[in-house]
Amino acid sequence: MYNIAAVSFGELFLKGKNRGSFEQRLIDRIKYALKDYKDVSVYKDSGKVYVETQYEEDMDEILERLRKIFGISNISPSVKTSKDVDVVIEKTLELFGCLLEKKDIKTFKIKTKRTDKSFPIKSMDFNALVGGRVLEKFRSVKVDVHAPDVEIYIDIKKSCYISSERIKSLGGLPVGSNGRALLLLSGGIDSPVAGYMIAKRGVEIDALYFHTYPFTSERANEKVIKLKEKLEEYCGRIKLYSINMLEIHKAIREFCREEETTILARRFMMRIAEKIALENQMDMLITGESLGQVASQTMKSMAVIEDAIKMPVLKPLVGLDKSEIIEIAREIGTYETSILPYDDCCSVFAPDHPLINPKLENIKKSESNLNVGDLVEKVMSTLEIM
Ligand code: ATP
Ligand code: MG
Repeated sequence: MYNIAAVSFGELFLKGKNRGSFEQRLIDRIKYALKDYKDVSVYKDSGKVYVETQYEEDMDEILERLRKIFGISNISPSVKTSKDVDVVIEKTLELFGCLLEKKDIKTFKIKTKRTDKSFPIKSMDFNALVGGRVLEKFRSVKVDVHAPDVEIYIDIKKSCYISSERIKSLGGLPVGSNGRALLLLSGGIDSPVAGYMIAKRGVEIDALYFHTYPFTSERANEKVIKLKEKLEEYCGRIKLYSINMLEIHKAIREFCREEETTILARRFMMRIAEKIALENQMDMLITGESLGQVASQTMKSMAVIEDAIKMPVLKPLVGLDKSEIIEIAREIGTYETSILPYDDCCSVFAPDHPLINPKLENIKKSESNLNVGDLVEKVMSTLEIM
C-alpha cells in the first residue's frame, strides 16, 4: 500500500549554514544504499527527504536499508497522492481499510498539516471532513484525539503524503559530513563496533587489517572482508587495506623480550596506520580498545602504544563493558561473523605472559635493537587493497 518513504532527520537541524550540504550527503547516502533499485527516486519536499518507488512490493526492503543510514531520525512509510481533495480522501480511506485488516483499531485521529496554503481546505476543517468520511465508511471505529490507536497524518506540500506510523531510526549524522578516519579492523568483536560508532557521527571510514600470512589463514582474511561488508551497510563504501606483519614479528622475536611482543607489535601497527592515514587524507585512527579488557588495554599499555605516533586515536568503546559491546555487535549484525574461529593474529608470536605494566623507556630501549624505519618500509611494501 505504501509507495513512498518520508525521511526525517534529527540533528541536521542544528547545523545551520551547513544544512544544505548535510542534506545532500544524506541524499547521496540514500541513493548509494539503494543503487540496485533502478526505479527509485529520491528528492526533497519542504524539510523532508522522500524515497519513492514504482513497486510497492519493494518498500519493505527499502525501509530496511533506510533504517541503517546514519542521519535519519525516523521514517514514515507513506502513500503519495495528488492534492485533489477527492483523491486525498479516497486514498486515506483505502489506507485506513488496509490498516484495519492488519490491526485491531478502535479509535483514530486525523491530523493534517497544510504547508501548501493553496490547498483549498484548512487543516482543522480537513481533519473533520476526512474523519467524518472514515466514520461513515468504517462503522466500528471512533475518534479519539488524545490517545488514538492510530493517527493518520496527512502532509500537504508539493505533493500530498499520507502516513500512519513513524519508524524510529538510528539518528547520528550522514557519513561523509564529518571528515575521514582509518579504522584498525581486526576480525574480533570490538573493532567493527568501534567503526560503527564513529561512522555514526558522520565520519567516513577506511579500514586497515594486519595479518601474518602464512601464519594466519585465508579464512581470517575472508572474515575481515565479511565484517567490512557488514559495516558498509551503515557506512557506505569502505576501502580495506591489508598489511603483512610477518617481518616485524620475526624481528621482534629475534631481538626483543618475549613479554614485550604485544606492545612492540602494537606500536608498529600504530606507526603503519598513521602513515596510511596521512597518505590518504585521514585525520584520525579508530581502535576497538576498551579499558582493562586485556593486557594491552591497561592505562599504561595504551599510553605506551599511543606514544609511538602523533595522530589522535579515537577509542569509542573505552568505557564499555564487553557485554555492552556484544549487545551492539548483535544489533548491527557483526557478532556472528566476529565469533568465527579464524584468528587475525597468530599464536606463534603471542607471548605467554604479556606485560601489563610496560615502561616506556624499556620499550624504547628494546626498539633500539630494531631498525624501526626500515621495518615499517619493508612491511609497507606488502600493502594491498582487499
Ligand atoms: P577486537 O575485538 O577488535 O579484535 P581485541 O579485544 O582483540 O579487539 P586487541 O587485540 O588489544 O583487542 O586490539 C585492540 C584494537 O587494536 C582492536 O580493536 C583493533 O582496532 C586493533 N587491532 C588489533 N589487532 C588488529 C589486526 N590484526 N588488524 C587491525 N587492527 C587490529
Ligand atoms: Mg582481536
